[in-house]
Amino acid sequence: MIFRPEKLKIKDQRMVSFIDSDELWGYIHTTPATKEKVREVIAKSLDKNRLTLAETAILINATDPDLIEEIKQGARMLKEKVYGQRIALPIYIGNLCTNNCSYCGFKATNNKVKRVTLNREDLISQVRALEDTGQKRLILVYGEHPKYDANFIAESVRTVYSVKSGPGEIRRVNINAAPMDIDGFRIIKDAKIGTYQIFQETYHRETYARVHQGGQKRDYDWRLTGLDRAQEAGIDDVGIGALFGLYDWRFELLGLVRHTNHFEAVYNVGPHTISFPRIQYASELNLDKSNMVSDSEFTRLVAILRLAVPYTGLILTARETAAIRDEIMQFGVSQIDGGTNIEMGGYSKRKEHEEQDIDLEQFQINDNRTLNEIMDDLIEQKYIPSFCTACYRLGRTGEHFMEFSVPGFIKRYCQPNALMTMVEYLEDYAPPETKAKGYLLMQEKLDEIEDESFKIKLTEKINQIKDGQRDLYF
Ligand code: SAM
Ligand code: SF4
Repeated sequence: MIFRPEKLKIKDQRMVSFIDSDELWGYIHTTPATKEKVREVIAKSLDKNRLTLAETAILINATDPDLIEEIKQGARMLKEKVYGQRIALPIYIGNLCTNNCSYCGFKATNNKVKRVTLNREDLISQVRALEDTGQKRLILVYGEHPKYDANFIAESVRTVYSVKSGPGEIRRVNINAAPMDIDGFRIIKDAKIGTYQIFQETYHRETYARVHQGGQKRDYDWRLTGLDRAQEAGIDDVGIGALFGLYDWRFELLGLVRHTNHFEAVYNVGPHTISFPRIQYASELNLDKSNMVSDSEFTRLVAILRLAVPYTGLILTARETAAIRDEIMQFGVSQIDGGTNIEMGGYSKRKEHEEQDIDLEQFQINDNRTLNEIMDDLIEQKYIPSFCTACYRLGRTGEHFMEFSVPGFIKRYCQPNALMTMVEYLEDYAPPETKAKGYLLMQEKLDEIEDESFKIKLTEKINQIKDGQRDLYF
């Protein structure tokens, strides 16, 4: 390898800021992308190695259309190593907020938005409505407000887990909420959450200060070290993210890779997931649009991210159109949402393709397909839609990379578990056409299994599901 390992100016320590803006820009300005170097970096990633900042910068600096296509092709090849699409759905618990993020419809100064906090009964009816469509994994989302403290969040998690509707149940609850102190994270961990997500929004300190004027969120370092505190409290499945469109996408991409290095250096495990939302229209949006990311830049940056962190789960949301989602899914996105409605209380009153009520929403979403439409599309494209929660239930947390690095893990665990959750869905919720297509895909996948004794075991479990048993996994 011609590239030397990073000698970062800021040494990684627990709960200490690790972003040096000059350093990140330095990589972008000093690593030219020759064809040879770009190919060498792609090859390193395909060999299942995480890329350094310098190597990521080489991919970022590749502007020749043929090289960009080679990068995308590399990302598509990596996808072969991802077995299927996990589905998790956001549900907004409350939109009270004391912050003033310039890009968000829920900001404190927006008096056009209706402020709602779901009470226990509301939440139960939302969850029941989701379970009745077949959802098994949720992301609970909260504004930042004293009312939504650790005890409140933990209580909502417990409520969600307690709701059972027919064969429906929620098996994994992830959280997207403000950072808290270590004691707060401990309270939430005790409620048995899956992943805790906090997006830094922008890693660029000056831009951060400009778009966060007011409230606790204006403290860049408190937010940046938020997931360190979660780790200290024992939450080892953490999700990072950047909101693309606030600052130069090249810088944000390196920021995400730097955040990943930080976790690896200090906690010996990278983030479980990375999210890369792009700014969408919101009520009272107040933004400098000069850093908005075009579709072609967006697909390019996701391909680079895929190559930079081959072991990390990537989350794609309904903020993007179905067309962009289809392209990006080819790069091995491991989690999507399906049937998303980010209107407060929107699931229980949902009609198909209902008009969005922007004054109840944080921002506008662009993929309004129902869960079954998404399931059907995934099956059609030969992805296995997955509601798998096995690793989390068996304590295999904090080590997402295990799926990729332990030989045979995907074949032995992920793929069969994904298939079994798909069969549950086909039995309990799918209309006949989706059911027929789903069973054809299942048979194709079963036929691909070479280990005959394992195939027999899996077929037995699938038959048990058809006979009415639920929640089986390896
Ligand atoms: N209030 C908490 C916070 O800010 O971290 C958690 C929930 S916030 C509702 C979830 C994420 O939505 C934010 O981190 C931000 O990245 C994203 N978001 C906010 N406004 C957006 C917009 N206009 N378009 C796309 N994403 C947006
Ligand atoms: Fe509040 Fe989060 Fe919206 Fe900022 S992004 S205004 S913290 S809900």
